[in-house]
Amino acid sequence: MKKNVLVIHTGGTISMMEDKDTGAVTPGKENPLSVQTSMVSSLAEVQVIEAFHLPSPHITTEHMHRIKRLIEEEYDKRPFDGVVITHGTDTLEETAYFLDLTITLPVSIVVTGAMRSSNEIGADGLYNLISSVRVAAEPQSNNKGVLVVLNDEIHSAKNVTKTHTSNVSTFQSPQYGPIGIVTKRGILYHHQPTSSESYKVCDVTKRVTLIKAYAGMDSSLLYAIKELQYDGVVIEALGQGNLPPEAVPGVCGLLDHNIPVVLVSRCFNGIAQDVYGYAGGGKQLKEKGVIFSNGLNGQKARIKLMVALSQTTNFQELERIFKN
Ligand code: ASP
Repeated sequence: MKKNVLVIHTGGTISMMEDKDTGAVTPGKENPLSVQTSMVSSLAEVQVIEAFHLPSPHITTEHMHRIKRLIEEEYDKRPFDGVVITHGTDTLEETAYFLDLTITLPVSIVVTGAMRSSNEIGADGLYNLISSVRVAAEPQSNNKGVLVVLNDEIHSAKNVTKTHTSNVSTFQSPQYGPIGIVTKRGILYHHQPTSSESYKVCDVTKRVTLIKAYAGMDSSLLYAIKELQYDGVVIEALGQGNLPPEAVPGVCGLLDHNIPVVLVSRCFNGIAQDVYGYAGGGKQLKEKGVIFSNGLNGQKARIKLMVALSQTTNFQELERIFKN
């Protein structure tokens, strides 16, 4: 019997067209994927919802929360076996990770997109949509967290990131690799995520910002963030988790105002840790109360801090959450 798959379109290049005269890629009045839905109907009983028609730089955490609620509401109305969300690739990993942290339904959840718009030579959108419906309809895809499927690869939402501005193999999981592949004959998993976490999120109103450390960085931006009364800050620190000494007073100012500071590394492999004991080194930062994350990149640590802050502002609790 065919599986039931809910497809939610949110926009992105996968739903856009290129103007042949100007070369500009934009969302048109109609989503080209809606016309192509017949191509996936042989794979599963597909129900399609056009949630938004937005380029993904226009997607906010409020949109992510709406996608989460939409999936849960639709499941309550009519349970399905899996869901596929089409999304612009620029912020795809953030939406995928938000859903990973906040949805607990016993179904497969797949996020996909495309690097080439629907009328470009070598357009990858329809292919990725078909692959994603196949993955969503595959019972083995359950209990693996939210999956990101593009270019014949299956990645976990937690580890995947966009690595290339234009190449179709842009989505990679540095350090870990994909957890499965899509072949002509089937869906093959070769890894199983060893942990999962979920948080209740009532709203996404907390303001969390993300900044990147650099040689010679001082405290001025950190002081500004404190003045702007952000609820949390993620810093992409240097190497194993260090900052220039001139940035430390700014970090202390934030912590003194009970604004949590989460550290990730600006290296795209490895985990930020409290190793170095010099001024601005990770040991000093940790002693002052900076929270070290467990290998997330900056944009995902920001999503996690927003989700975590909607539950607790207690520093010890936040630290525990970031150990996961
Ligand atoms: N800029 C586009 C977006 O994120 C890129 C894409 O979809 O691939 O909406």
